[in-house]
Amino acid sequence: MGACFAYAAAQRGLSPVIIASDAPDNGKTGTATSWAWINVNSASDKAYFQLRHNSMQRWQSWMQRLDGLTYSAQDSYCWDLTPNQIQSTANRLQEWGLPCSVLNAATLISHLPRLQEIPIAALHVPMEGAVEPVSTANLLLKASGAQIIKAHVHSLLGTADSITGVMTDQGAFMADEIVLAAGNGTPRILDTIDIDYPMETTNGLLVRSKPIPPMLTGLVIAPKFHVRQQPDGSLLIGGSFGPYAPENGTGQLANDAEKQLDLIRSAFDTPAPLELDSFTLGQRPIPKGGMPTIGRITTSAGDSINGLYLAVMHSGFSNGAGVAENAMDELLDGATHPLFESFRFSRAS
Ligand SMILES: Cc1cc2nc3c(=O)[nH]c(=O)nc-3n(C[C@H](O)[C@H](O)[C@H](O)COP(=O)(O)OP(=O)(O)OC[C@H]3O[C@@H](n4cnc5c(N)ncnc54)[C@H](O)[C@@H]3O)c2cc1C
Repeated sequence: MGACFAYAAAQRGLSPVIIASDAPDNGKTGTATSWAWINVNSASDKAYFQLRHNSMQRWQSWMQRLDGLTYSAQDSYCWDLTPNQIQSTANRLQEWGLPCSVLNAATLISHLPRLQEIPIAALHVPMEGAVEPVSTANLLLKASGAQIIKAHVHSLLGTADSITGVMTDQGAFMADEIVLAAGNGTPRILDTIDIDYPMETTNGLLVRSKPIPPMLTGLVIAPKFHVRQQPDGSLLIGGSFGPYAPENGTGQLANDAEKQLDLIRSAFDTPAPLELDSFTLGQRPIPKGGMPTIGRITTSAGDSINGLYLAVMHSGFSNGAGVAENAMDELLDGATHPLFESFRFSRAS
């Protein structure tokens, strides 16, 4: 999120400063451990669909503008729903203006010739894709020209109604506007100004195979796994999208990683045997209630805190470009963006 904000700010002529204790490639960040699917089809709520749809369009415009920013996998194929649900999802998305279709088994095989466990139907969304999370964040940061300061933020500085800076282990930094895009670190920072911000962080296990020859250009989302192929040929494999809670000290993580590979071994006729390369256990930055929080904080007295802008969400890749660009209208022009109205702090707290 921070990289998206830095790029969007630079596009508006600002000189952003990033303060972060971890670079995007540090495995502690949500970004480093992300599947980074830019999608809209998972939104069943219209306001959330519109936010994500707008963001997907912004990503596509950023891809036109920024050399090297590109989908590394494109076209999503989802069958983690029943055939009836797939049809009703497609109907709803089409009504909302998203090009998509329901593929039958025969058509799906023509798109995914290596698939051997073939569902009755799949939802196909051609505009969705994935980016490589770390290189994308680094590219946006570089293009933004942001000054990057590696520091740990201990506290926000200011008064009850106006934030003017942060105190870090490198000293104080003052700013006209602070965008708090700290993922799972948000509650601790807000606690320093007595703001309670609960999150419902969950774990997600992603398994990377050793590179194999090209077999998949799209993203596949099945009931028990999701998989895409990275530019170096590795498969990046997740399980179901629900919370993952391994028992400590049981070796369960390594076993489950192998099981995720097994699911792909049986679902696909892979062009080479699949071997485990590595796995990550990431923490999804999920605000309480599951929806993004965007914008100013409103206190219980109904006042908004100046100088501080929140941007916390799971699906930070899906939402990042749109949220960052539209937030600039709020921050610089004093606009109130209608797309954000369902995602304000008052709803999250
Ligand atoms: C397993 C998994 C799969 C995912 N899949 C998808 C997907 O397919 N599509 C999608 O859109 N999203 C997905 N996400 C979510 C997505 O990756 C995140 O929403 C996105 O990376 C945005 O994260 P962020 O910038 O808010 O947090 P992070 O990437 O965690 O960055 C937070 C930054 O804040 C810094 N920070 C925090 N506290 C402090 C402090 N006190 N002082 C200084 N710095 C601090 C950290 O060092 C870090 O640099 C997934 C996440 C996980 C874990």
